[in-house]
Amino acid sequence: MYKNIGKIVLIIGALCLVFVLAIGLIKDNKNTDDTSAQGNESETQENTSSEKENIIEELQISEDDLSLEAGDEYKITVNGLMTDGSLKDLTDEDKLIVISNNDKFTVEDGYIKVSEDAKVGENAKIKFVYEFDAVTVNLEVSETGDQKAETNTVKDTSNNNKDIVTNNNANNKDNTIMIDDEGKHIVTNPSDIHVLVNKERNLPSDYKPDDLIKPDIKFSFEGENEKRYLREAAAHALEELVAEANQEGIEIVGVSGFRSYSKQNSIFNYNVNKRGYEAANKISAKPGQSEHQTGLAIDVSCAGVGYALQERFGKLEEGKWLAENAHKFGFIIRYEKGKEDITGYQYEPWHIRYLGKDIAEDIYEKGITYEEYFEQYM
Ligand SMILES: [Zn+2]
Repeated sequence: MYKNIGKIVLIIGALCLVFVLAIGLIKDNKNTDDTSAQGNESETQENTSSEKENIIEELQISEDDLSLEAGDEYKITVNGLMTDGSLKDLTDEDKLIVISNNDKFTVEDGYIKVSEDAKVGENAKIKFVYEFDAVTVNLEVSETGDQKAETNTVKDTSNNNKDIVTNNNANNKDNTIMIDDEGKHIVTNPSDIHVLVNKERNLPSDYKPDDLIKPDIKFSFEGENEKRYLREAAAHALEELVAEANQEGIEIVGVSGFRSYSKQNSIFNYNVNKRGYEAANKISAKPGQSEHQTGLAIDVSCAGVGYALQERFGKLEEGKWLAENAHKFGFIIRYEKGKEDITGYQYEPWHIRYLGKDIAEDIYEKGITYEEYFEQYM
């Protein structure tokens, strides 16, 4: 009997240890959007990461230059070179995006296919994009005996300059993304109230909303600063939210609203200089990836946490009120607890995002993230 109890205690102990280790790993992989953004202004960030992550350092492709005949198929392999030097085959990954600048050259199931009516000498670049890395293969159609005679009679009516994006990921059903020269995904609707911005959907570097105003609420700092600004609709909604909270005896204070690309860029570079790229990437949002650049997001706080951005805010009366009422004014708590894998950010009870009442209420009722909502309902 006692022997069995001893065994059970041992097993429970081992399970707890595994659980604690797992939580530690998950935490290490998440950034926070804001503490980083605060840069050296606030010290709410706990940097728990010390071990080097095994991540993709660069993409490699089995062939850089290929000469193929019309009608040919060619097996291509795209690998990720990992930090530890190993290769990871990404060819069949859903997240691998293929972009061809000539629609006679496509990629299906890992095979480059050259259309039957491709002309000799016709060429193409096919770009493979995986997260933030890209690699390109150059293709050219070589001669065959049969084609030689026909070359002059084949008429090219297709639009060769049109980029074709194929991606198994369902997210690609939306047309709110374009891919720039560096393979970055850039949103095409930055001024849309419903724009989705995250680590996979960048804002254009030159985007700045043209209707920024200062909401008439109390801020945690004095003086003029771009952090005071929000887009008009969000600013007025926030005024209503804060007024209603005050009515109920709850004081919510603005900390940081709009943040320009250049401000985010200097924060990121500051962290790179101070701690190196890898560490900076862990604790800072990259420029273009902060929702604050939309002018639709703001960090708020209260006296109970010294107007800082701390997770404890979520446990205070003010944080609880915000979580239960923000949707009535068109805001959502953008980075919810337990949704880190979907949003890419740790729980941030202080970061609210304006989406308008209909969608905010819908999201609140469904209890899902904006990523999930966007995927399923937009
Ligand atoms: Zn924020």
